[in-house]
Amino acid sequence: TVIDLGPPVAATAPVPRPNADGLASLDARSISAWFGDHKVLDRVSLTMPAGKVTALIGPSGCGKSTFLRILNRMHELVPSASLAGEVLLDGRDLYSAERRITDARRQVGMVFQKPNPFPAMSIYDNVVAGLKLTGLRVSRSDRDDLVEETLTKAGLWKEVRDRLRQPGGALSGGQQQRLCIARSLAVRPRVLLMDEPCSALDPTSTRRIEETIAELVHEVTIVIVTHNMQQAARVSHLCAFFLASQGTPGVIVEHGATSAMFDHPQDPRTSDYVNGRF
Ligand code: ADP
Ligand code: MG
Repeated sequence: TVIDLGPPVAATAPVPRPNADGLASLDARSISAWFGDHKVLDRVSLTMPAGKVTALIGPSGCGKSTFLRILNRMHELVPSASLAGEVLLDGRDLYSAERRITDARRQVGMVFQKPNPFPAMSIYDNVVAGLKLTGLRVSRSDRDDLVEETLTKAGLWKEVRDRLRQPGGALSGGQQQRLCIARSLAVRPRVLLMDEPCSALDPTSTRRIEETIAELVHEVTIVIVTHNMQQAARVSHLCAFFLASQGTPGVIVEHGATSAMFDHPQDPRTSDYVNGRF
């Protein structure tokens, strides 16, 4: 079934204060996923604890992006997609009938591999764009503060404070990605999902994003997909290794504390992967 997001929601709720609801955990329970008849995930369970960075690693095609999209109900937007299992945000069902998809997607934000700001829209308007889509209101006077605060958190404020009316598309790739992080943060998500956020970026921009992640985790739970093992080791507390061998659906082979997984992997396949033998 296609879930229609519908027109922008009439603004009803004020933007919450930072961290007003506390840090949230995300719990995936026995998630299986299909595109048509093609099963791509098989009973994947993973707890992503509040206030931690969880890294998802594994070869291409093993279902990491699909899993990530299930965590904020984007999976539902693909007409052929279906799924089984549960996602709990702080113990509450993210997919419950009473919970609107816009609410789920406000609480669980997403940053993609390719920076995707609205290129013709100003930097300022990019930051507040998410509010309209998720039905949050903010007074004109508070809006300036929100823009400064979220751009600061994304590590971009000093670079753009004098050019907020310039188009988002005029920024460098790394700056565009930080603008996308700011856009996600403006609606005060409780979880931030990042799908290979640095894959399209140079090493310096990558380092800036990693520094941003380290600071953000004090107020938002983070789940990051990365192909960069050093990055996983640097930024994450916990790690899950996904694998789909020979056409079988993706499963989690091993998960746990990142340091333990890298130093003492339990499964030989994890060992091969983290040591670059795949
Ligand atoms: P990863 O992110 O680990 O590379 P994906 O989640 O993108 O893996 O893909 C997992 C599997 O699901 C792949 O076999 C891929 O071809 C398939 N897949 C992903 N998205 C779609 C889609 N929209 N329609 C059909 N198949 C898809
Ligand atoms: Mg992917």
